[in-house]
Amino acid sequence: MLIIACLPPGNIWPLKMAKVAAIFSDYDGTLSPLEVRREDAFISPRRRRLLAKASKSVQIGIITTKDLSFIKDRVPFADGIAATCGLEIQVGDRIIIDERIRLPNKKVEKAYQEALARILQMPDNVSVERKETENGELVAFCIDWRLARDWAEAQRKTAPILASCTEQGLYVVESGISPFANVFPVEVSKGDAFVRLRNEMGVTGSVIYLGDSEADNPAFQVADISIGIKHRRTVPELLSKYVLEYLELDGFLSNLIDADFEFRDEMIERNTRQELDRRTASK
Ligand SMILES: [Mg+2]
Repeated sequence: MLIIACLPPGNIWPLKMAKVAAIFSDYDGTLSPLEVRREDAFISPRRRRLLAKASKSVQIGIITTKDLSFIKDRVPFADGIAATCGLEIQVGDRIIIDERIRLPNKKVEKAYQEALARILQMPDNVSVERKETENGELVAFCIDWRLARDWAEAQRKTAPILASCTEQGLYVVESGISPFANVFPVEVSKGDAFVRLRNEMGVTGSVIYLGDSEADNPAFQVADISIGIKHRRTVPELLSKYVLEYLELDGFLSNLIDADFEFRDEMIERNTRQELDRRTASK
């Protein structure tokens, strides 16, 4: 439930208070550090403890482009996970597979093999990650250059591979800034994944969403309280109402727990870009 407390004179942003029912979050770059190898992408012990503590009072959901086998052991505190951008959802013991991927997709397998062959010839540190179902079938893949020395150069070299995937009818999710791109067999969105996960988990109150890239923008738009996580090296255009530095997230979670999940506007910095947009729109 969202409670609008009051609107101070001259302030176009109402002070907002809300009892938080659930925290939904991206994983990669939001809960775990951005510039590490895939196998080293874990949540820090302090952040894990805070999320475990929060999970005793509110529901925790993870929305990620990583697959279920990668993510599930890394987020033991989560009540629900939308993996592979929502193509596979787990809530408790239930796994819900998107109907569009029930049959194996030969186009994805072919594009994956082609991408792999071309990337193996690249001298810089670019990798291809398979995203599989629980049965080990290839669903989607990710081309990742976060460990490359020169991100711009790596992006330039991977662009023709991604263009070829699009030409073959696959759905490519990329950003001009983040050092990776995902290739899916069907159109996906973190906004759709958010809505499906919220329904499957039976969440009815206000939901916070945390994310750090442009791929999180559709989820920011359906969340009650949207919080963008900022990194020093990448500055994507986040459509969240609020922003936090990556390292400030622990302090925010701690304050939210201490406030018994009564979110207040002043707990966190507003996203200046969003505020400017709102001012422009209101004129
Ligand atoms: Mg991320």
